[in-house]
Amino acid sequence: MDDFFSYDVVNWGKPFERNQQVKKDPVGNEVLIKITASGLCHSDIHIRKGFFDLGEKGIHTLEQRGAKLPVTIGHEIAGEVIEIGSTVKNLSIGQSVIVFPWIGCGGCLACDEDRESDCTNMNIIGINQNGGFASHVLVQDEKFVFDITGLDPAKVAPYACSGLTVYNALTKLGELRDGEWLAVLGTGGLGLNAISIAKALGYKNIIAIDIDDTKLAAAVEMGADQTLNSKSKTASNDLIALCEGRLFGVIDTFGSQETANLAVSTLTKTGRYVTVGLYGGDFIMPQVWLPQKAMTVRGSHVGNSPQLKILIEMYRDGKLKDIPIEKRPLSEINNAMNDLENGRVTGRIILCP
Ligand SMILES: [Zn+2]
Ligand SMILES: [Zn+2]
Repeated sequence: MDDFFSYDVVNWGKPFERNQQVKKDPVGNEVLIKITASGLCHSDIHIRKGFFDLGEKGIHTLEQRGAKLPVTIGHEIAGEVIEIGSTVKNLSIGQSVIVFPWIGCGGCLACDEDRESDCTNMNIIGINQNGGFASHVLVQDEKFVFDITGLDPAKVAPYACSGLTVYNALTKLGELRDGEWLAVLGTGGLGLNAISIAKALGYKNIIAIDIDDTKLAAAVEMGADQTLNSKSKTASNDLIALCEGRLFGVIDTFGSQETANLAVSTLTKTGRYVTVGLYGGDFIMPQVWLPQKAMTVRGSHVGNSPQLKILIEMYRDGKLKDIPIEKRPLSEINNAMNDLENGRVTGRIILCP
């Protein structure tokens, strides 16, 4: 008999605490998964704190979004199916799988169209229901569980959030013409995946931007054609020069006032700024830039289950480069979180129960 446990947020902003859990038997379409790999995502920093920074409008708390304490967070989950409900058809015991965590309400137009990330009443695994920093996870329907047989769960797990989020953002950005550039702002887990996926989708001129040279070196490994350390006072001009004035697209994985300003002040006419980062604060830009530069400023939130399926197929076909990962025992989650918060992580920490 397996031991069932989790590392939970018991008080917002405080270290994770280990809790013993009682096994829940899967019924209907439910799937019980023994977790083997659980990615530690930058947004877990905000989720553990319990709020997002809305700048002048204050904060938006996780409780306002339906989270209740204690909660097991963690949303990049891979593992092995150990039990299935009686109506599960397409999964079998022992199968290696990844979990799609961005579950919608199931009853709106977005959910009907498998655009779960556009649902306004999401039931996210790792926020609204218990997630991956645990020995096991119970998933409500087999349609949110995808086969990864033969793949390394630790390498695949980050596609559930960091890979999927930037893939969704890239589909919103659209194609670039010859000579046009794509900038990826922030080269943490999301940014590195953005470069790898953009390369696989055929983007040719990619510039990686960060304030950390170690992370920029990792970005070059992932296929970035140019890098820029944005700590420099001349970052805007340098970026325009490096792209020869043809910066058409920016994917912002950081999402602060500074990164937004850098994006909208450097994009070429008709350029597109797609932001997925949740650093927070206010975003202020000259109104006339929108019409005069014919600019698109757009947000993108996580991704959809059909997109995760496509990403796993791309990975299986060898089209995606692995981002650097570092496996650590789940019991070291608090140290891992400290390292992530202090910028000491290149790529992804994968916690293994
Ligand atoms: Zn995430
Ligand atoms: Zn919905």
